[in-house]
Amino acid sequence: MADPEHPCLRCGACCAAFRVDFSVHEIDEHGGTVPAGLAVEVTGTTWRMRGTDHVPIRCAALVGKVGERASCGIYEWRPNPCRELEPGSHACDKARARHGLPPLDPETPAT
Ligand code: SF4
Ligand code: SF4
Repeated sequence: MADPEHPCLRCGACCAAFRVDFSVHEIDEHGGTVPAGLAVEVTGTTWRMRGTDHVPIRCAALVGKVGERASCGIYEWRPNPCRELEPGSHACDKARARHGLPPLDPETPAT
């Protein structure tokens, strides 16, 4: 995310709104990329980003302040649920609403 104008860099709401679960195979110690120290094991097959399973939700990898300036500290190594959450999607709108932020530009097609 090199574009400094990218809306996510002024948001970060989805990193502080949802539980982030993913396969054990995404953990670095198991052949993936997500640093094990930033996640917790849930079951033998599922891991969760640390900080996303209790209120207030805030992923341990999130850097900055939601709604002002935010970025993922492990952007290149983040798990699949984070890659799949599209800016402008319903989940994006929901996350932003939880933080009192309006939906992104309404011209952005919802997915
Ligand atoms: S809630 Fe939407 S705009 Fe905000 S960081 Fe997530 S995807 Fe980007
Ligand atoms: S890993 Fe990065 S993109 Fe995913 S929830 Fe945490 S801070 Fe957000």
